[in-house]
Amino acid sequence: MIRLLTFCALFLPLLATAQRYEFTHDDTLRGSITPERSWWDLTFYHLRVRVQPTDSTLSGSTEIRYRVLKPAQTMQVDLQRPLRVERIEQDGKSLTFRQDGDAYFVTLTKPQKTGQNEAVTVFYSGKPRVAKRPPWDGGLVWKHDKEGNWFIATACQGLGASAWWPCKDHMYDEPDSMAISVTVPEDLMDVSNGQLRKVTTNADRTRTFDWYVKNPINNYGVNINVARYKHWSDTYQGEKGTLALNYYVLPEHLDSAKIQFQQVPKMLKAFEYWFGPYPFYEDGYKLVEVPYLGMEHQSSVTYGNRFQNGYLGRDLSQTGWGLLWDFIIVHESGHEWFANNITYKDVADMWIHESFTNYSECLFTEYYYGKEAGAQYVIGCRALIRNDKPIVGIYNVNNSGSGDMYYKGGNMLHTIRQLVNNDVKWRQLLRGMNKTFYHQTVTAQQIEQYMIQQTGLNLKPVFDQYLRDIRLPTLEYRSVKGSLQYRWTNCVAGFDMPIRICLGESGPYRSLQPTSQWKTLPANGVTTLTVDPNYYVLCKRLGE
Ligand SMILES: [Zn+2]
Repeated sequence: MIRLLTFCALFLPLLATAQRYEFTHDDTLRGSITPERSWWDLTFYHLRVRVQPTDSTLSGSTEIRYRVLKPAQTMQVDLQRPLRVERIEQDGKSLTFRQDGDAYFVTLTKPQKTGQNEAVTVFYSGKPRVAKRPPWDGGLVWKHDKEGNWFIATACQGLGASAWWPCKDHMYDEPDSMAISVTVPEDLMDVSNGQLRKVTTNADRTRTFDWYVKNPINNYGVNINVARYKHWSDTYQGEKGTLALNYYVLPEHLDSAKIQFQQVPKMLKAFEYWFGPYPFYEDGYKLVEVPYLGMEHQSSVTYGNRFQNGYLGRDLSQTGWGLLWDFIIVHESGHEWFANNITYKDVADMWIHESFTNYSECLFTEYYYGKEAGAQYVIGCRALIRNDKPIVGIYNVNNSGSGDMYYKGGNMLHTIRQLVNNDVKWRQLLRGMNKTFYHQTVTAQQIEQYMIQQTGLNLKPVFDQYLRDIRLPTLEYRSVKGSLQYRWTNCVAGFDMPIRICLGESGPYRSLQPTSQWKTLPANGVTTLTVDPNYYVLCKRLGE
């Protein structure tokens, strides 16, 4: 996802006070791996949904296939109000269930034996929540194109997929594959994830589009996009062979899209270089126009950036580099590696998606315009950092941390790259991560541990500092009798990150290893020092 940038930083303390929030029983049901979730492992979903624009309703069912991990008779499935579960079946027999807010606790009558594969089907209907400010405050978007045809889409990161279809609405568990069958009025088409297998014309003037996803998919990545789309396709010769590219846009945007979407192969080339093969060759890559800014829907990236470069025409870094490419094509596609390939288990660790994807913008810039350009881009984004609250959110209650997960997270990675100080190794680290955690859901600890092991660096205090603390580490120094004394302040215990500095205002950089204790550097009477700007830290000279 991308962050909404219209909040003025000045209002944030007020908002923070107004929004102080007590977590509820509903938040725990939504955000934790409850006993009624943990005993079964998702293997497959078949979502069948009928979209009825005239009264903005959905109806259909989800077949949930699963493997029993340990015997239990109560299963939690999720569906958010005002949608309603009509009935739940196992082997064709109706089951009883109890509703608790947006969670349903189903009583299974058949003994659930360890290792067995079973299925339940949840039938549902109703008017789903309408998105208030998609994609940030999501749900269903019901709009029209210029000719008055329906233009409908879903966006549900954070909110959860259960806002529009019944599922196990927790990120830790993904099905191994998924079928999505969407029925729409006959003059419209649906674009969802994966490959289109079949289109059926029904007797009631509707058509059903059967999509199939061959890979594990995270629940907010599932999407439907309904419009009178124009479609064209292409292929890309990448690291894993031939990748199918499919594009869907409104008729009125066909000409501009055909020009703007030429950036897709460029994006794939840069990201395969940095991160390894596109993670979903079997499902293809799609770019689909939607009536909101964009979202990283897996193999079906959605696009609403008005066919222009930048973020709605603006450069987030204020350096000019961000105007040379389309922010939504680059950022949302970057998520195919960091969000869809490597996925957080708990949204509290959302930085795994957004920090690496923010950094992918820098790496894209670097690939085409050079290392200095990439560095300027990520450094330029620092103006958007708030240091308001920690990047890591609160676990088990569906809570994400500060929006700093974007720009501060990207700058943390750029700072760590300085510590690695070896671009070949840095690239291997990023590619290795996508291989090691291929198609997995992960915790922050796994990612941090991997980076610590691969780099051999003491990164634990660095992660704690940037992810779990709001203070910006400050290199404090003072001039004493021709020498300079320096130390870290404003930092977590044990923070000893090495840094590059030069004496005076310019000159060759040299490495220092400050700790929270004063150390002395001979300075030949030079009374100031300058920190390499690639490090995201503060530097403060104390008076003599
Ligand atoms: Zn994002």
